[in-house]
Amino acid sequence: MPTAKFKRVMVKLSGEALMGDQEFGISPEVIGYVAAEIRSIFDLGVEVALVIGGGNIFRGIKGSSYGMDRTSADHMGMLATVINSIALCDALEKQGMPTRVQSAIAMHEIAEPYILRRALRHLEKKRVVIFAAGTGNPYFTTDTAAVLRAQEIHAEILFKATKVNCLFDKDPECNSDAQPITAITHKQVLERELRAMDTTATSLAMDNKLPIGIINMLTPGNICKAVCGETIGTYIGD
Ligand code: UDP
Repeated sequence: MPTAKFKRVMVKLSGEALMGDQEFGISPEVIGYVAAEIRSIFDLGVEVALVIGGGNIFRGIKGSSYGMDRTSADHMGMLATVINSIALCDALEKQGMPTRVQSAIAMHEIAEPYILRRALRHLEKKRVVIFAAGTGNPYFTTDTAAVLRAQEIHAEILFKATKVNCLFDKDPECNSDAQPITAITHKQVLERELRAMDTTATSLAMDNKLPIGIINMLTPGNICKAVCGETIGTYIGD
């Protein structure tokens, strides 16, 4: 069996990662696949924390473009992350991983409140912890929530699981000469305006020296390889 390089990791999944070929919502096959990929690192004895976005259901910025108040729209976006978190919890538990959802917005009947010490206890007991409802504040993203929680729980690295293989020096969809980047610093990401994560998330990670790995979650085995220290995708750090 391969050996993990990290003891505790944070994995950020975008809501869209759950859609598969659908235009909206959650694909049962895809969520099962994602759970199996998480199982591959759980089986290595790694303590796993997860943040999942809500873009497959609702994004605040889209609601506000229809004329909704941004705060109301972001509240809807955060609730979308709770829906995804509950679905992911169910899929993980079906594959034998004890899992807890902690929500940044109180909803005691369906999720624990976010309590750092309790989250740490779950991780120590080898329970997967899913942090739902982002930061609990509008005008933020789940990327920022993932960086924030990663720091609070002292995760050694944050893996941002995406649909692309790595970060490119320019948008590969519009530029045929776009070059892949295997390693870069947070500062360079900000200076070059590369869209690895939003700038709030990247600068928070930079200030606290949290390394970020950008990996393609659609390639089976990638997350396990990355957790074992193989060079996969893009490493953001010093
Ligand atoms: N959101 C928020 N505060 C947070 C995290 C998320 O208001 O701390 C809202 C925001 O409207 C966002 C939506 O939740 O658009 C879904 O999150 P995100 O866009 O990060 O999801 P992803 O793109 O990863 O699927």
